[in-house]
Amino acid sequence: MLKGKSAIITGSTSGIGLGIASALAAEGCDVMLNGFGDPAETERLRAELAEQHGARTAYSPADMTKPAEIRELIAETERHFGGVDILVNNAGIQHVAPIVEFPEERWDAVIAINLSAAFHASKAALPLMIRKKWGRIINIASAHGLVASGEKAAYVAAKHGLVGLTKVTAIEVANQGVTCNAICPGWVLTRLVQQQIEARAKAQGIPVEQAREDLVREKQPMLDYTTPEKIAALAVFLCGDAASTITGAALSIDGGWVAQ
Ligand code: NAD
Repeated sequence: MLKGKSAIITGSTSGIGLGIASALAAEGCDVMLNGFGDPAETERLRAELAEQHGARTAYSPADMTKPAEIRELIAETERHFGGVDILVNNAGIQHVAPIVEFPEERWDAVIAINLSAAFHASKAALPLMIRKKWGRIINIASAHGLVASGEKAAYVAAKHGLVGLTKVTAIEVANQGVTCNAICPGWVLTRLVQQQIEARAKAQGIPVEQAREDLVREKQPMLDYTTPEKIAALAVFLCGDAASTITGAALSIDGGWVAQ
């Protein structure tokens, strides 16, 4: 369905980003991977995706806190694959602390990676999409883009901002063949959440398994974690023709979290 399209997925060395990269490669996309990690392991992931799906794949270590490196990521993808048709702004970090104790440096980092990076990447990629009169931007926001929780000031602010950026982008390019949507997951069991589970188990002196169950129970009516594969299937749908008039939307995939 997406054969010949080229896709960048920021933060795709693990978790949701890797799931989306894999699903887009399976659909025939050329895929630019990005994110941090052990170089040998990253190369193994890149080669595996290429081999499994017959896709062209590349990797950029661009740091999403650095606008110049983000611009270079877009330029490098154009050089490799002849364009940027799909941009998935997925890279993200979390920091959990009350506002009065929140380290300024962590605030800046969360806003830079979870919000400003999507602006810089969209700014650089949009002219390439408009030129081809086709493009898809998918911003991986969160249930925290729609509702708040305590001790997540930077993350909630960044994700609410990302939902706002999604709407503005959608409006600006509505008649240029480009759509922009946000996906708002609830709990997905990835490294980012595993760290929160382990911190909770330690703080409360409870087993990790119990902390995992408590975390999901606290927010979601449905007591299941979403998988990266399910987020990826939604992203693939948004790239397809059936979704060509879905734009500016914030799509929840959250076990009923924000229905309450
Ligand atoms: P993860 O920790 O598994 O993946 C994060 C990715 O971002 C990794 O590839 C990491 O290397 C990359 N990254 C971090 N800092 C970077 C930087 N400065 N430059 C480039 N890459 C960087 O986490 P995940 O759960 O897969 O999270 C992916 C996205 O999904 C995030 O935006 C997160 O906020 C969002 N999300 C996750 C959940 C969840 O429950 N896991 C829920 C809602 C939203």
